[in-house]
Amino acid sequence: MNLIEKVKGLFAGKKAAAEAPAFSSSQKKSENIIEIKGITKVFDGVTVLDDLSLGIKRGQFVTLLGPSGCGKTTLLRLIAGFETPTEGEIYIEGVPITSIPPFKRPVNTVFQKYALFPHLNVFKNVAFGLKLRKIADPTAKKGYRKFTSEEIEKKVNRALKLVGLEDYGHRDVNSLSGGQQQRVAIARAIVCEPKVLLLDEPLGALDLKMRKEMQIELKKMHEDLGITFIFVTHDQEEALTMSDMVVVMNDGIIQQIDRPKKIYDEPKNAFVADFIGESNLLSGVMEKDYSIAFLGKTLPCVDKGFEKNEKVDVVIRPEDIVIKEGAGKGHFDGKVLTTVFKGTYYEMIVLASDYEFTVQSQIEYRPGAEVSLEIVPDSIHIMKKILTINKYIGSVTDEGVVSFCGGDFSIPTDGFETGDEVIVYVPFDAVELTDDESDGVICASVTQSIYKGTYYQVQVYTDTDEDFYIDTADEWDMDDRVGIRIDGAKVRLEKYLPEADEEAAE
Ligand code: ATP
Repeated sequence: MNLIEKVKGLFAGKKAAAEAPAFSSSQKKSENIIEIKGITKVFDGVTVLDDLSLGIKRGQFVTLLGPSGCGKTTLLRLIAGFETPTEGEIYIEGVPITSIPPFKRPVNTVFQKYALFPHLNVFKNVAFGLKLRKIADPTAKKGYRKFTSEEIEKKVNRALKLVGLEDYGHRDVNSLSGGQQQRVAIARAIVCEPKVLLLDEPLGALDLKMRKEMQIELKKMHEDLGITFIFVTHDQEEALTMSDMVVVMNDGIIQQIDRPKKIYDEPKNAFVADFIGESNLLSGVMEKDYSIAFLGKTLPCVDKGFEKNEKVDVVIRPEDIVIKEGAGKGHFDGKVLTTVFKGTYYEMIVLASDYEFTVQSQIEYRPGAEVSLEIVPDSIHIMKKILTINKYIGSVTDEGVVSFCGGDFSIPTDGFETGDEVIVYVPFDAVELTDDESDGVICASVTQSIYKGTYYQVQVYTDTDEDFYIDTADEWDMDDRVGIRIDGAKVRLEKYLPEADEEAAE
């Protein structure tokens, strides 16, 4: 019997409702324990979360997943009450919580750095929060009282049992391993019986073996406690194995909310496909329903409902490609470049139609082998392109000069007057990135680079807080500083009518 089973039911039916009078039991009926509505968070003029809305169901294990800096921790800290939203509201059990201080919210947080009190032993670390807590008691003079030492002892021992540290109460926290210290931190967070446990990369400081063990234990703790877990990680494998629901974020925006399998099988866009698991990501054209063209071939697919000849992103998972010996047996003939044994399968890079396919197979084909790749309709996932052109508001500052994103760009202005406000449409292939920032009209940092089969789609964030998407043959690294130049001949201008925007908003 494992340690979780041993203590199964310990917390059942023992919710301390009196400790959080604002969150009444009548609210318990609604399915969502947390509602995040239109949350925007701006730090020093930079938008870190952008009009984000999300409902979290009671008792779920929800993971916020995304690259470093996408806003996961900020969202968690807003729920915990360590930050205040710039706009929007968060509700827990139907109660707006923005003006409720952290310690009065029915949530508790476990951080990556355990933040234990080094001068207190394990028991006292876990008991710390309980000692400060006041509980409603109509028989007490003031209507509330503190926990008695017997109550504290019972609760702390129960929490320590749950995290497998039953006999560790007397131990100095400095004498514990990293994994044990993190368990103390979890015990400290659950001892007050929160309705929601927030976990901010709690396993990030552990070595791989300990991390895997703790993943299993955390999942069991979640099942046993029956409370809602909101878990932050940038590790996609961790997110997929542990969660009931994954929220994939990028750049302060939710990209997809789904069950792990759906996120893997049916990524909503190129970012999710690229971030989750291995994938072959290509640009294609949906010629008509059930017919997709990419890398110079037209293949049958299972998708419909796109515009005729709409440009789309295509995802093919490596394990879905059938690799055959010899040419002419599949859709793309090619040559194996590399082969790596990955424990249960071989991963091969196959050069075919000028694209480096990643293919996984139980059968090994050695580098240099002539092969053919077959891709069945079911294996082709078609996704709408998120954006097909960069769009900005600017103004004509001189003949042949348009000012936008903090720079003056040379763009033909025929038909426009100096002073006109304009919408500037900049195709992805009209933007050039320069190594040397000073060679560009404006400067930016690279935030993302996705290989799309024959080119890289790079996203950069300008110093004036604008995004630019660029299609380029060059590979750029995250955080590279770059200059931006634009081929004015490819840019299209349109008169800007603010009233049209307002009408559209209505
Ligand atoms: P990581 O996985 O690296 O922790 P994250 O997705 O959790 O990243 P956040 O910590 O939420 O990202 O940070 C999002 C952005 O907000 C980052 O650019 C960060 O520098 C910025 N940021 C966070 N807190 C503050 C703050 N107090 N003041 C200014 N900027 C902040």
